[in-house]
Amino acid sequence: MVDSEDTGKVILVLNCGSSSLKYDLILMPHRKSLGKGIVERIGEEKGSLEQKSDDKKLVIEQKIKDHREALELVMRAITDRDEGIIKDVSEIAGIGHRVVHGGDKYASSVVIDESVVAAIEEFIELAPLHNPPNLTGIQVARELMPNLKQVAVFDTAFHQTMPSHAYLYGLPRKFYEEFKIRRYGFHGTSHRYVSARAVELCRRHPSNTNVISCHLGNGGSVTAIARGKSIDTSMGFTPLEGMIMGTRSGDLDPAILGFLMDRGYSSKDLIKMLNKESGLLGLSGISNDMRDLEKAAEEGNHRAKEAIDCYAYRVRKYIGAYAANLIKVDILVFTGGIGQNGWRMRERICKRLENLGIFLDHKLNKEMGSKEGIVSEAYSPVTVAVIPTNEELQIAIDVYELAFGGESAFRRRQTDFNVGMKRS
Ligand code: ADP
Repeated sequence: MVDSEDTGKVILVLNCGSSSLKYDLILMPHRKSLGKGIVERIGEEKGSLEQKSDDKKLVIEQKIKDHREALELVMRAITDRDEGIIKDVSEIAGIGHRVVHGGDKYASSVVIDESVVAAIEEFIELAPLHNPPNLTGIQVARELMPNLKQVAVFDTAFHQTMPSHAYLYGLPRKFYEEFKIRRYGFHGTSHRYVSARAVELCRRHPSNTNVISCHLGNGGSVTAIARGKSIDTSMGFTPLEGMIMGTRSGDLDPAILGFLMDRGYSSKDLIKMLNKESGLLGLSGISNDMRDLEKAAEEGNHRAKEAIDCYAYRVRKYIGAYAANLIKVDILVFTGGIGQNGWRMRERICKRLENLGIFLDHKLNKEMGSKEGIVSEAYSPVTVAVIPTNEELQIAIDVYELAFGGESAFRRRQTDFNVGMKRS
C-alpha cells in the first residue's frame, strides 16, 4: 500500500483519444511512474490493453465496446493479482485528465466540476476531434470513481498568457468576436514542463529567465517563454499552423486554399491534405518519420534532403522571430522525438544561430543521445538543453498541487512529522 500521508499519493493520469486510452500511475511527490498502459481499438471488433510496470507486462485482447468498458478494464489490469500495479483501486488518490482545448477560459489546470464539464463541451467546436473523447473519459471516470478529485489539464492553458498582439490574426474583428478565431497554441503541458525543467537544470530562477522551447515530435511547435510565461507560440487556431511537421503543412499563404477550391478541391479535401498528406511526408514523398528521411538523405535522395532542410529552416526562422521578441534569450530547449533524439537535426537548426549567441558543443550534442542535459559550449551566451518531455508527470504534479497542496506542502508535512517524532 502506498497511500499514507507520508509515503505519497498515487495519481492516475488519463489521456483519452477517440479509440484509445493511455494511462499512467504516478506516485507523488516522488515523481515516480509505477506503471503505464494503453487500451487501443476501442469500439472495434478486436481491442487490446497493454500494460508495463517494472519487469511485469500484461496484455489483454478482447472486444472493448466503449470508453466505459475500457476504463473498467484498466481498473482490472492495474489491480491484477499477478501483473498489476496496485493492490486496490482505493489506493488511487486523484485523477488527472489531459484535455486538448480549454478555449480562452482556462489559463491553468482546474478541479473538475459541472461548470468545467460544460466548458469542455462548449469548446468542442474548437477541437471537434479531441475534446469529445477527452470529455467521455472524464464522464466515465467520474461515474466509476465519484469520490475522487479529478483535474483537467489543458494543452492550450499555458499559452493563455500570450498578449493580444501575439494571438490576434489580421482578420476583421467580427471573426474573433463571433467565432473566437485567434491563436490558442497547443503542446502547452509539454512546453511548461520542459521549460521549467530546463530552468532547474541551469540552476536559474524563472523570474529572470527567458526560454525558447522547441517541441519537435510528429507534431511540432516552438514557444517563446518570458519569465515563466508563454508570450507566443507557433501553433494557432488549430495545430496546423507553424513549423513543417510530420504530415502537417505548417504556415502557408491562405490564398493557396482559394486557388485550389477554384480548381475543384473541397474544404474537407484540403483540410485532410494539409493535416495528413503534407509536411515531411508530402515534401519527401517517402515518409513522415525523420529517421527514414535521414537515412534516405544519406543515400542521396534529393527530396528527403530538401524536406529535412525545409524543416530545419522553418524552426530556425521561429527561433529568430522569438529571439527578437524576447530581446534576451537564456535557454533554448529541444524536446519531442526529433528534438530529444535527433542530434543531427539540432545541429542543422543551430547552424547560423551563432549570431544570436547560440553555440552548440558539437561533440557533446552528438554524445548526449536521448538523455537530459546541456549541449552548448560553456562560453555560449544561450544555454542549449535537451529535455525529454513528460506530460503525464506534469499532469500528476498539477493534480497533486490542486488536490493535496503540492510538493512544498508535502515537504512541510514531512518536517512537522519529523519534528513531532523527535519530540515524542
Ligand atoms: P508524437 O508527436 O507522435 O508523440 P514523437 O515525439 O515520438 O511523436 O516523435 C516522433 C518523431 O521522432 C519521428 O519523426 C521520429 O522519426 C523522430 N525520432 C525518433 N527517434 C529519432 C532519432 N534517433 N533521430 C531522429 N529522429 C528521431
